[in-house]
Amino acid sequence: MPATKQKKAVRKSNIVKLKFDTSWAYDPAPESKSAATIKERYDLFIDGKWQPSSNKKYFATINPATEGKLSEVAEATEADVDKAVKAARHAYESVWKKMPAKERGKYIFRIARMIQEKARELAIIESLDGGKPIRESRDFDVPTAANHFFYYAGWADKLEYAFPNRTAEPLGVAGQIIPWNFPLLMAAWKIAPAIATGNTVVLKPAETTPLTALKLAEIIEESDLPPGVVNIITGAGATGAAIVNHPDINKIAFTGSTDVGKIIQRAIAGTDKKATLELGGKAANIIFEDAPLDQAVEGVIIGIYFNQGHVCCAGSRLYVQESVAKQVIRKLKDRIESLIVGDPMDKNTDIGAINSKQQLETIHKYLKIGKQEGAEMYQSSCLLPGKGFWCRPTLFTNVAQSNRIAQEEIFGPVLSVLTFRTDDEVIEKANNSPYGLSAGVWTDKGSKIFNMTKRMRAGVVWANTFNKFDPTSPFGGYKESGFGREGGLHGLLPYLALKA
Ligand code: NDP
Repeated sequence: MPATKQKKAVRKSNIVKLKFDTSWAYDPAPESKSAATIKERYDLFIDGKWQPSSNKKYFATINPATEGKLSEVAEATEADVDKAVKAARHAYESVWKKMPAKERGKYIFRIARMIQEKARELAIIESLDGGKPIRESRDFDVPTAANHFFYYAGWADKLEYAFPNRTAEPLGVAGQIIPWNFPLLMAAWKIAPAIATGNTVVLKPAETTPLTALKLAEIIEESDLPPGVVNIITGAGATGAAIVNHPDINKIAFTGSTDVGKIIQRAIAGTDKKATLELGGKAANIIFEDAPLDQAVEGVIIGIYFNQGHVCCAGSRLYVQESVAKQVIRKLKDRIESLIVGDPMDKNTDIGAINSKQQLETIHKYLKIGKQEGAEMYQSSCLLPGKGFWCRPTLFTNVAQSNRIAQEEIFGPVLSVLTFRTDDEVIEKANNSPYGLSAGVWTDKGSKIFNMTKRMRAGVVWANTFNKFDPTSPFGGYKESGFGREGGLHGLLPYLALKA
């Protein structure tokens, strides 16, 4: 055999060997659970004290990777919501709005530092309660949450520079409702700008992931923040609705589904409550033929499989230019095969557990719909643990623009791949969505990036990267993805009344 042919044959056999040789598997590297303390039961954090709910009811929060119970938390009733709002109002009138902004900032800096000090414990609890890989909780959720507190602590006494020639005044009491995909980070996104601008807060975490918000309540208690400035109450949708409908709330900040966002908008119509709604998304991630393909494929993987795809800005619709589609799909399939799915506490894990049984059922429903619509499904061949809620990284090819898997938010590790030929075609397809939260463009040409980003109806457009977050950068959507911005200087505005 000629030398070059021989080399190719050897290379080929090595590839096959690498792919199937199980001795290449990583040894488990589990994070220790003992570095975190989870109480058997949590009450409501109202007025700086831990108080049982008025109906004395508790509900369990479980580990989605094992289905084992982690703790139980109080179910706040309308009466408890009222109590929390009264505490927040009292703290607002008697202490917080009167306090010099510099002093307010010091408390917020203290909370930020305490989050850093307890980072390991918070990361462990986040992964146990939510199912996300410990690497993500440790390297993304917790540090970014601390950064939000640091960033807004800095703004507390500088509002006159943020809004020159205007007087910025707080609104009063903010009701804040957060989802289960980034529990601690969403709490930080909501609480930090609200209290930095002089408002007080009643916050409700999601039913399936209350534990890091309750840990944050412990940190807030330890920080000596005046009682009532931040109240954290647990409960289900009815508790959220009671916050929205309470007459003494001045502002609603909500992150969650578009359906609940619409309910909230209807509920506050005709009141003078201000609102920011950060809702769903179906982001288009576009790869042009001139893009560095390996880098783009890595970006697509992060875009859709980060946090099991439970990300409002996940790049769930991939548009690939037709000339490179075959190549990109092959690379994606190879890469999916190498993703490690399993124990969220293992530092090697790329894809953890689906957050809840209900969410897994939703994902399965869409897998079925995709197949019925005629798309071709490809999943990695990885083994899944016997207990818990799991979904293999999945991609669909032969997807049509009108398919439900290309239009609706699945909120799981499921990618729909579509193709295009021209810039105009892909713009039309990308914008043909009820959502408009985020998007991505992969190309070698700077001019193309500017052209595309200008024409795409999405709140955030990433270029040659994806899922990058920074507290200094505003985030929010168009259309059914909601309104209002969180993060950056823009994130101060929804909590302020500006006067001339
Ligand atoms: P929801 O919108 O129901 O939950 C978000 C938050 O709102 C939770 O704290 C929830 O409480 C609370 N809530 C529920 N009903 C009401 C109500 N009527 N009034 C006020 N607050 C309420 O999202 P789901 O958990 O049901 O997820 C469903 C779908 O929503 C997902 O599949 C995904 O598509 C999308 N989603 C989008 C998110 C995003 O970041 N944009 C985040 C989460 C979900 P509780 O948890 O107790 O029900």
